[in-house]
Amino acid sequence: MKKHLLDWLYPRHCEVCGAGLDREEDLLCRGCLEDMPLTWFWKWRGNPAEKMLWGRCRFETVSSLFYYHRESDYAHLTPKIKYGGNRHLGICLGEMLGRQMSGSITDIDVIIPVPLHPLKKWSRGYNQSEIVARGISTGLGGIPIAGGILKRTRWARSQTRTDMGNKWENVGGAFSLDRDRSEILRDRHVLLVDDVLTSGATAESCWDTLKDIPGIRLSFATLAYVE
Ligand SMILES: [Zn+2]
Repeated sequence: MKKHLLDWLYPRHCEVCGAGLDREEDLLCRGCLEDMPLTWFWKWRGNPAEKMLWGRCRFETVSSLFYYHRESDYAHLTPKIKYGGNRHLGICLGEMLGRQMSGSITDIDVIIPVPLHPLKKWSRGYNQSEIVARGISTGLGGIPIAGGILKRTRWARSQTRTDMGNKWENVGGAFSLDRDRSEILRDRHVLLVDDVLTSGATAESCWDTLKDIPGIRLSFATLAYVE
């Protein structure tokens, strides 16, 4: 096939394997898209991510787009969003997850991205969870995102690329609630969004902060699930 002029001028490469992309491909080549290790958690109640959190918090559903294995080429995806500033990638993968979820989880009212501490957001320039949440919102058909109600008040040590998968984040009591605005979450099904699910400590801490809002139901979604 003849290459599109723009692909000659601005060659694009697969974010997983690095192969050149043709004009019909965006971010991932066809092969990497087909081979993506999807979890299918959105169709699977009692999935491993939900089981991990049993006894600690009670989410309606826990979904992740793909399995994260340290050795896998797909492990590059979330650091590119979290540290590399690749917003387009975060939005597209979030949208992919939202579209998948929309077939099985149909009653989400509002999305809350897991917040960063304001200083960390300032130093990074963005919150990767907000980017993923924007994609999920689109994939779910335009569910509103509520920012600023859940706040991170304590600076937890960050997960780095090298220790992902074996460290328990110290996030207990790291979040607080804007009591004046939390009323809009009453009787709502709220989807919390983060980039990676590892130990579940962040999910548990958010749950603890939100669970006493009357009638609230909570679900959790991430791009990657670390086995
Ligand atoms: Zn590829």
